[in-house]
Amino acid sequence: MASLPKEQWAQVVEKTGGPVVYKKIPVPKPGPDEVLVNIKYSGVCHTDLHAMQGDWPLATKLPLVGGHEGAGVVVARGELVDDVEIGDHAGVKWLNGSCLHCDFCMQSDEPLCPKPLLSGYTVDGTFQEYCIAKAAHIARIPKNLPLDAIAPVLCAGITVYKGLKESGAKPGQWVAIVGAGGGLGSLAQQYAKAMGIRIIAIDTGDDKKEMCLNSLGAEHFIDFATSKNVVKDVQAATPDGLGPHAVILVAVNEKPFQQAAEYVRPRGTVICIGLPAGAYLRAPVFESVIKMISIKGSYVGNRKDSAEAIDFFARGLIKAPFKVVGLSELGMVYDKMHKGQIAGRYVLDTTK
Ligand code: NAD
Ligand code: ZN
Repeated sequence: MASLPKEQWAQVVEKTGGPVVYKKIPVPKPGPDEVLVNIKYSGVCHTDLHAMQGDWPLATKLPLVGGHEGAGVVVARGELVDDVEIGDHAGVKWLNGSCLHCDFCMQSDEPLCPKPLLSGYTVDGTFQEYCIAKAAHIARIPKNLPLDAIAPVLCAGITVYKGLKESGAKPGQWVAIVGAGGGLGSLAQQYAKAMGIRIIAIDTGDDKKEMCLNSLGAEHFIDFATSKNVVKDVQAATPDGLGPHAVILVAVNEKPFQQAAEYVRPRGTVICIGLPAGAYLRAPVFESVIKMISIKGSYVGNRKDSAEAIDFFARGLIKAPFKVVGLSELGMVYDKMHKGQIAGRYVLDTTK
């Protein structure tokens, strides 16, 4: 095994609210059941921005290295790890580890484990050159796949694939993807298309409209900022005017979480994935009852969902736009993300 450096570059949140500080920190050592992954590329998820800003009712560790869409190469492993080889390609996901013996872990609902380790939140994540993860939870990445393009699949892809499965939408049915122009939304369109589900994209701006209609598979685009009546426009986009069978909410504002129940089709399902700070769901009781609608939360995916989401990518079905910049440029990415100016995903190259 080649010897590892003692120090590495990382982006560190030193206090809640930020900013991120690009600096050298020690390379960590894996524990007995852990691996050390040399992160080559890491996607930047809006969750990382929520973590820096302290948006959620769950404290982060401090100082914190964010990031949970890390794709790289295993360079060290603990003495209990015998099923991951040095040189294997691996992904470090949001769920860095879980207890593996609680009620939820035992039935492969490990995102619901009451003692999870969360990459880039409760443990240091992938905005560094060398990152630790529990061997049981790393994503296995076939060596022929590009590590930059697959990075966003490791959170955004897995999460939206799971959300689409939870929605119960079937081939030929319609889904409204709310926040379609962002990281999760762009991948949601590719997974929905691959699953044979028809797409109404909701977001704002000409860049995102062009991307959704011309490269991701949406048949309709509704601009939430210019539409006079989003509810009517979404329903009118389905051929019988009764609305989409499912709604995938990946927006970072509260308003759509209070609208979706109004336009979803009778018997339809609203899937909440986005996590806007301090937001509440709202649905009219009368319509919810007489339309027999379902409203559900969906949270990342288990190890099997992860393997399936990667397999969709491996089969060439998932092509979502991403832009590569250096790890040193994370602050610029957060700025654009905060302003809603990112169409697709930014991916950080840890060598720059
Ligand atoms: P992003 O910033 O890339 O995209 C968000 C998109 O929402 C933007 O394109 C923005 O224009 C759009 N938007 C804002 N207001 C809107 C509105 N009123 N209607 C429609 N679209 C609107 O963010 P992302 O990385 O895709 O993450 C989205 C959200 O999902 C974040 O809150 C993130 O924390 C959350 N998330 C949840 C899970 C989970 O497991 N549930 C996993 C990953 C991310
Ligand atoms: Zn994420």
